[in-house]
Amino acid sequence: MIKCLTAPRWGANASNLLRICNACITQSIEYGAHTVGMTNKTGYAALKIIQNNILRFVFGLPRWTPLPILYKISNEINMQLRKSVSGPNHPDYGSDASKNENSTAIVAINCFSDVVIKGTIHNINSVFSGEGFAITLAVTSFVKENGDYLILTDKLSNLTALKYFNFHSPKSSLFLARAIFNALKICSSLELIYTPAHAGIAENERADFLAKQALTSPNICDWISPEDARLACFKITRKIQYMEWENSKYYDKYRWLNDFYFKKFNLSRRKEVLIFLLISRTLPINANLHKCRLMDSQNCIHCQVPETCEHVVLSCPKYETARDSLRAKLGCIPLSLDWICDFSVKGCHKIKAILAFIVSSGRF
Ligand SMILES: [Zn+2]
Repeated sequence: MIKCLTAPRWGANASNLLRICNACITQSIEYGAHTVGMTNKTGYAALKIIQNNILRFVFGLPRWTPLPILYKISNEINMQLRKSVSGPNHPDYGSDASKNENSTAIVAINCFSDVVIKGTIHNINSVFSGEGFAITLAVTSFVKENGDYLILTDKLSNLTALKYFNFHSPKSSLFLARAIFNALKICSSLELIYTPAHAGIAENERADFLAKQALTSPNICDWISPEDARLACFKITRKIQYMEWENSKYYDKYRWLNDFYFKKFNLSRRKEVLIFLLISRTLPINANLHKCRLMDSQNCIHCQVPETCEHVVLSCPKYETARDSLRAKLGCIPLSLDWICDFSVKGCHKIKAILAFIVSSGRF
């Protein structure tokens, strides 16, 4: 069924195909790997081959497409890399919080006894999670038997999350809800009150000041919000994949891929596959076919020189008429293959002109 969806005339575009394949195949093999014992290095290497085939299939790219280029065009993280970056080992598990580039701090103040608990938590945590943990810290540390308590916070988002609390709520809110549930069993009353920041409320201003001070304090607990950890893992894998791309030998040769994003174009299946083949320089021309032993000679049958992408697009006399038309459409500029593959400028108009050239060549 998925193969039918790739029909050149009416097939789905790469964006939709990728979504379908990820939902039906990639996700199943990734999670299924745990049940069939393929979670070791060899297992994931085998699954990565399946993922590569899926990506080639979705983008209509041939098997001689180099892997770094395949990942760059598809903007997908390869399965092996995704598994190699594991999340943190920790379980899911008046106040204020503050965050800068290097640390996230939480503060809980008991205004009655003037006890201050402050320190940093893992920097993966967002301000939202930090604030939730700060309130949890205040509840678990200060609420004692038979007392009446007011907890002031200047982050409305945490209180709203508690108000519309359900099983899908962020884990930091669930954690806070459990702390409140336990505290309510022992105290007489417990109220959470929203106090707007910088409104001259002394307790609030003090908590804000101490939270900023606490950014350089030692770690106070190992609480990490799973949502923030997942986001951090995603950012790390993206960064590693980009570094792999930067260090690959294709980075300098395929600079136009840095600005390429396949979802920007709205083309028919056939046209978008032609564009993918062009920018990855994997058009089925003699030089590429010869490398894969699908052709005896790599030479152009008209000119007897190696038939490369450059030759077809820039110099082969057989396509001179189509090339003249391309020059006219693009404004008679000297053509270069690097410039042709770069769609960051003159996007739509340029794509139409280049597609017309490729189609009129009659080769692809
Ligand atoms: Zn030629």
